[in-house]
Amino acid sequence: MLNPIYTISKIADILNAEVKLFDAQTIIQYLVIDSRSVLVPENSLFFALSSHRDGHEFIKDAYSKDIRNFVISEKKYIEQYTDCNFIVVDNVLKSLQKLAIEHRKHFDLKTIGITGSNGKTIVKEWLYQLLATDFDIVRSPKSYNSQIGVPLSVWQIDSNNTLGIFEAGISAVNEMEDLAKIIQPQIGILTNIGEAHAEGFSSKKEKLIEKLKLFKDVELLIYSPEYVTEINFKKLPGKKHFSWSSRQAADLRIIAVEPIEGNCYLRAIYQDREIECMLPFKDKASIENGMICWATLLALGYSPEQADTRLEKLSHVSMRLELKNGINQCSIIDDSYSADISSLAIALDFLNQQNQHPKKTVILSELFETGQDDLDLYTEIADLLAQKKVNRLIGIGTHLSRYAELFKCETQFFEDTNAFIEAFPGLQFNHETILVKGARRFGFGRISKLLTQKIHDTVLEIDLNAMAGNLQFYRSKIKPGVKIMVMVKAFSYGSGSFEIANLLQFHKVDYLAVAYADEGIALRKAGITLPIMVMSPEESAFDAIIKHNLEPEIYSLEILNSFLNALSDYRFDYPIHIKIDSGMHRLGFDQKEIDQLAELLKDAQRLKVQSIFSHLVASGEAEHDGFTQKQIEKFKETANLLIAALGYKPLLHIANTSGISRWPDGQMDMVRLGIGLYGFDSALVHNRGLQTVMVLKTTVTQIKTLEPGETVGYSRSGVMPDGGKIATVKIGYADGYGRAFGNGVGKMLINGHLVPTIGSICMDMTMLDITGIDAKPGDEAIVFNHEHTIMQLASDINTIPYEILTNISQRVKRVYFYE
Ligand SMILES: *Cc1c(COP(=O)(O)O)cnc(C)c1O
Repeated sequence: MLNPIYTISKIADILNAEVKLFDAQTIIQYLVIDSRSVLVPENSLFFALSSHRDGHEFIKDAYSKDIRNFVISEKKYIEQYTDCNFIVVDNVLKSLQKLAIEHRKHFDLKTIGITGSNGKTIVKEWLYQLLATDFDIVRSPKSYNSQIGVPLSVWQIDSNNTLGIFEAGISAVNEMEDLAKIIQPQIGILTNIGEAHAEGFSSKKEKLIEKLKLFKDVELLIYSPEYVTEINFKKLPGKKHFSWSSRQAADLRIIAVEPIEGNCYLRAIYQDREIECMLPFKDKASIENGMICWATLLALGYSPEQADTRLEKLSHVSMRLELKNGINQCSIIDDSYSADISSLAIALDFLNQQNQHPKKTVILSELFETGQDDLDLYTEIADLLAQKKVNRLIGIGTHLSRYAELFKCETQFFEDTNAFIEAFPGLQFNHETILVKGARRFGFGRISKLLTQKIHDTVLEIDLNAMAGNLQFYRSKIKPGVKIMVMVKAFSYGSGSFEIANLLQFHKVDYLAVAYADEGIALRKAGITLPIMVMSPEESAFDAIIKHNLEPEIYSLEILNSFLNALSDYRFDYPIHIKIDSGMHRLGFDQKEIDQLAELLKDAQRLKVQSIFSHLVASGEAEHDGFTQKQIEKFKETANLLIAALGYKPLLHIANTSGISRWPDGQMDMVRLGIGLYGFDSALVHNRGLQTVMVLKTTVTQIKTLEPGETVGYSRSGVMPDGGKIATVKIGYADGYGRAFGNGVGKMLINGHLVPTIGSICMDMTMLDITGIDAKPGDEAIVFNHEHTIMQLASDINTIPYEILTNISQRVKRVYFYE
């Protein structure tokens, strides 16, 4: 079978669309949805998809990156760019999907479709590991499972492939049918059905029925009866079924799950006999994902013995890039899990988002791409590195060095990882961002270890994708044209400084706000160019504020006068922000001061009022809605007085996170997003729709068995009348785990069990009562995550999530994840 060749005119025919072609013979190989990541512009087709931002806004940017082929729904662009090919359609997303459906029709490869609430990506990656020796597999890159991700995944199929493994995720009804048409799976896997992403559905049953639509025409469905209780099982799609369960009758009936060391030993009844397998994992999620893979191998006809040998060799799938602090002030992006061109492109995009160091280095292993000529492959990589402005390439592997002259940046090559490690003491790494990216067999973990500062055993993990998801959630709530300012004060609510600001700058928020000048200066030094408002500008910092182009909040006549004193006579239109007190009674001008303020401002040509704002005191609390309404009115009234006197209209803003959720009328010209970005909103029941951003973890240092009557810790406050077992973990009040959590008030998760503290919290350590629970030194203790939440911690000690977050001290290392 040959791969289809798509010219732009053929694509126009497929889409049955109106066209304006400049060169009808242009060959299209790549579909692009984001103008920021383009591999080969001349063979790329840009789809102007609209989500919160209209994709047409990015045509200009795509054009500047040499893209000349576009699918659009607004004709007016045709006139503006005369040397381009345009395909004009009603619905750009549907056209992308239609093209993928047409592409899929050319191939009759075996296809596995995976859906479910959790585990889709891991099951897909593991099946890839398990089946790669028998098939030439094409699979969704990372977790591309959305309405957009699925067509892009399917577009990768080529004639060499003998198996496709694709995941499909949905967030609302009526989405799955389209995905089913694109994937056309013969084998279906339902991983599980949980509570996640329930907001787009009226019930769990509705969600299940929608997901099952992926399997409408499958030959074989692999599922667990535990997750389909809502429907009559006769109604399950699929000609044949294969079920697995550890609780009820099933084709693969798991009867024992025994953790041994770091592994887990499973036993089951299958075809009337007892079989077994070993998984090299022991956490709950991995065990379930392992069971699904086990069931799939058996359902595909592998013998229990073959399945066991393969499952035992599964390796951890870390789909995530990790950003952490390195030696000599470097930032390290660690991606030592895979090396293929699509994940390299994603990693380079992330490298490119980092502004904190001007210099960028990539340490790269050889890549293996099936069906691509090496010269083509390395030419593509060299172009990509040049495009992402990489300054230095360190290539590892004999093969890679053969293509050395393709790379235009500074280069160094090593035969293998060991050779690099031997040379390491003589190499220079200083004030730069380093991407470490290698295929698993190169063992790049050793390289990132050399480059990374020692990570203490207590780590705050920050999920940048979840944060971007939360930003998107609020964007979907604000009206078109309303700007968004993100509050990154107090070290971004404890989560980080430039790491967060880089993400926000990449996602094009309009403004940042910090509490103090220092925080703003740190962001400027890390290359952040967004406008930054400083809420508590101190007189002593005025010079620094001006030097770094930060924009002070002006809340009193005194501060206005002293800022004017600091500003040189030759400045013109320096941006400031006027704070109105509408009821908080903290900082800000009262209505009666407006005349005087206006008088001063009118004559001050050196200043420009960029915005006028106020702050709501109880936007999330229904019992104060009357007061909030009054605040909004009073603010508008006061702001209007000032606007009338100024003669121009600055941006008006008053809504914080829960203001965005509950007060659409309060959106005005801009909103100020704070805690919502980090996953909390008191206006949403259980923070529904928001994702967990932060996980705080520590480790067990020692385990002790106590006799009846012995006590634990200072002042003997932890009493064990019946004796028992305790675990000491490496976190204390100096890390931000306050004394209020002592004596059983706080709990942590150890090996899946929630266990209480015992005795007082110490400065650097905490003791937990783990009586009856298996644990050993080195085990992980989770202080909070999506299951044991910050909300719970806050309620345990009678405070609010804001305080829990911002208390986590700077000595706790932050690690950032990005998929
Ligand atoms: C912190 C802060 C916000 C953000 O509040 P959240 O409740 O976290 O959204 C908004 N405006 C001002 C003036 C703030 O100080």
